[in-house]
Formats: sequence, C-alpha cells, structure tokens
Amino acid sequence: MALVNVMEEIVDEKLAQMLESENCCKCSRCIEDMKAIALNKLPAKYVSTSNGELFTKLASSVRQSSVDINVAVSSAIECVSSRPLHEPRDAGNMDD
Ligand SMILES: [Zn+2]
Repeated sequence: MALVNVMEEIVDEKLAQMLESENCCKCSRCIEDMKAIALNKLPAKYVSTSNGELFTKLASSVRQSSVDINVAVSSAIECVSSRPLHEPRDAGNMDD
C-alpha cells in the first residue's frame, strides 16, 4: 500500500495543460522545478492508493476548487521560465 498526494497528480495535469500554451523551456528539469514551486504553495492531499474511490472523489473535489491551483501553477511557470536554473543553451540536450 502506498500513499499518493492527490494534489501532485492534479498539479501534473494542470501544468501539462497550461504549458501547451506557454512558450517557455519545457525540459524535465524546468518542469520539476515548476511542479515543486506549485506544490509548495498548495496543501498536500494524501490518499492511500488502495482506495481508488476515495482518490477519485478527492481529486474531483480538489479540482473543483481549482482557482488556487491555477494561480499556483501559473506563477510557478512564470517564476521558472523567467529564470531557469540552467544555462539556456543546455535546454535542448539535458534530459529527454
Ligand atoms: Zn529547462
């Protein structure tokens, strides 16, 4: 049995959605940084993965109050894309 932070799943999803329309570095390092910044601003919501029903319920109720999540994710994107933690020329050949 493992614990999963529902908020992490939701931030992952939001980040992927919002990055589609962003013209910024999307390497795995920047994405990890954005995710960390966003998650640090949001409350953790842990559920046990053995309880799939609770997970689904919680995920949809958290998603409905998604205003804070949008704000946290978009400010994380802004923060990292304006100041990536790596040299710009490394962006293409780092991870992936
Ligand atoms: Zn990057």
